Amino acid sequence: MRIDPDKCVACGNCLPVCPMGAIHIDPSIGRATINADECVECFTCFRGMSKEHLNPTLVRSIRRVARLFRFRFDPEPDICPTDAIVPEELSWPRIVRRAFSDPQVPHESTGIHGRGTAEVKTNDVTNRVKEREAGFVVEFGRPGVGARFRDIEKVTRALADLGVEFEKNNPVTSLMRDPSQGLIREDILNEKVLSAIVEIKTRLEEVPMVLQKIKDVSREVDTVISVGVSTRCDTDGNDSLRDMLEREGYPTYRGKTNLGLGRITRIPPHPSLSPNEGEDKGEGT
Ligand code: SF4
Ligand code: SF4
Repeated sequence: MRIDPDKCVACGNCLPVCPMGAIHIDPSIGRATINADECVECFTCFRGMSKEHLNPTLVRSIRRVARLFRFRFDPEPDICPTDAIVPEELSWPRIVRRAFSDPQVPHESTGIHGRGTAEVKTNDVTNRVKEREAGFVVEFGRPGVGARFRDIEKVTRALADLGVEFEKNNPVTSLMRDPSQGLIREDILNEKVLSAIVEIKTRLEEVPMVLQKIKDVSREVDTVISVGVSTRCDTDGNDSLRDMLEREGYPTYRGKTNLGLGRITRIPPHPSLSPNEGEDKGEGT
């Protein structure tokens, strides 16, 4: 993203809109400027603000004259009055920033909008995480913080050392040069994104080891990490993950339960059901 200095009137409206704090008014030129290293190409400033097409020279003159009389001439706070915010054509590797930061852009490698797969939300249908297995989503960054792939790689390397399985249909996995070692392409290591999600699968008994590893390596990264763990209940609706997490010192709240909306032909019917119950009821939505 770029701000056209010929158009910008330094009203400052775009500054609070940027989730990365990447826009500032440069006093040396009297214009808003974007710190390209911090900008994650989320397009919030360009898409989120209304645009007017006022003449920049006229607006600057009016603002100068108004100041003389101790008045302010400011546009409404959600408006760039001179349409000065200009998207730039993004090329590799910078285009990776937008793929992970603008939810309206499908990730080219997966065709999935946003930053990851549907994770556990569709596990009822995909059966990706099976009984006695645990699915992890390890999320890096947040608005205001962001994450560089250099830091993400520190964690993926540590996880690869444990022998975890990276989800193939995940954008971060698709950018790995060697998933067996958790190595991410060198040419994107310095790219910064609003957030990115790594998805892995392990055996259920490995959950404590994985959590400890993430905790240890999190001290070496310059971002924030959030971890979600999921499993598949047995046919009685029970799972041992919850107790395991409690033992590790993580009080848990079952945040999401998916049930019965998808094709379930791969799950044997519950013994208490009659032979026809529990069979496939058609495609899930
Ligand atoms: S909103 Fe537009 S005119 Fe105002 S500071 Fe930002 S780019 Fe410049
Ligand atoms: S594209 Fe996003 S990160 Fe870049 S300046 Fe605009 S709002 Fe900030």
